[in-house]
Amino acid sequence: MLKKIGNWKITPLETGNFWLDGGAMMGSVPKVLWEKTNVPDDKNRIKLALRCLLLDNGESRVLIESGIGNKFDSKFSKMFSISQSKEPLCDALSNSGYSHKDITHILLTHLHFDHAGGIVKIDSDGQAKPVFPNAKHYISRENWDAGINPNPRDRASYLKENYVPVHDKGLFEFVLDNSEILPGISTYVVNGHTKGQQLIKIDSDDETLVFCSDLIPLESHLRLPWIMGYDLNADLTLKEKTEFLNLASSNNWWLFFYHDPETIAVKIKEDGKYYKVIEKVSIHE
Ligand SMILES: [Zn+2]
Repeated sequence: MLKKIGNWKITPLETGNFWLDGGAMMGSVPKVLWEKTNVPDDKNRIKLALRCLLLDNGESRVLIESGIGNKFDSKFSKMFSISQSKEPLCDALSNSGYSHKDITHILLTHLHFDHAGGIVKIDSDGQAKPVFPNAKHYISRENWDAGINPNPRDRASYLKENYVPVHDKGLFEFVLDNSEILPGISTYVVNGHTKGQQLIKIDSDDETLVFCSDLIPLESHLRLPWIMGYDLNADLTLKEKTEFLNLASSNNWWLFFYHDPETIAVKIKEDGKYYKVIEKVSIHE
C-alpha cells in the first residue's frame, strides 16, 4: 500500500465486518455470477468490511468515515452479523497510535448507519455524545437534508441518533459540492446511491486516491452493470460510475474500498467492455 499522498500519511483502519443480502448488494446480477466473487452464507448474505481511512499531515488528523458504531441491540447485531470490538473505531485508532482526541476533521461520505454510526456513543450516564468532540464533521448539505427527511426507500438506513447529537453540539460543517476541504483533499459528489454522497479525493503531484464509498462498495462493482439494489437511482449510478471509472483509468487513480473485505485499493485500466485491475493492495499484505 502506498503510505503517503503528498504530505498526507495514510492509514487504513479496519473497524469490523458485517453481512448484507447478496441479491440486494448486486441488484440485477444473477446469483450464479455474483456467488463466484462474493461467497454467500447460509442466509444468502455476503461479507462487507468497514474500512475507514486516516490522513495525517502533521497538523491535521482527518478521519474518513466512522464505521457502524456500537449503539445497537443484539437483534440488529444478529441481523447484520456484525463482528467488531467493543469500541471499534477508537480501538482501530489506538492500534495505529492515535487517540480519538487527536482527530481534527471527520469527513463523512453520507449518513447511512454503516458509514456514520461511529460518531456518536452512549455515555455512562445514558446520554448520546459525540465521539470526536474536538473534530469538525463534514457532510454535503444535500445529504444532511436526506438524513433529516429520508426517501422512503432508504429511510431504514438513516438513523438520526447517529448524527443529530453531533449537529446539536454545532460540530457539523456543510460542504459545497465538489470543493476543497483541506489542501489536497476535496469532494466528488454523486447522487445515484443516495442524494449528495461525497466521495473523498486526495491529490498530490504524484498520486491521487479516491475513497469510493458506496459508488463502488466492493471490487466486484467495478463491472459497470453491477449496481446495488439499494441505490435510489440505478441509471444515474451507471452514468456516474462510467464517468468516474473513465477518469480513474485515464488518470491512474488509486480507488480505495470501504466495504470490500479482501481488497483495500486498486488501480484500473479500461479494457474493452469493463476495466481490468492493474495494481492491487489486499488485506493479506
Ligand atoms: Zn450507503
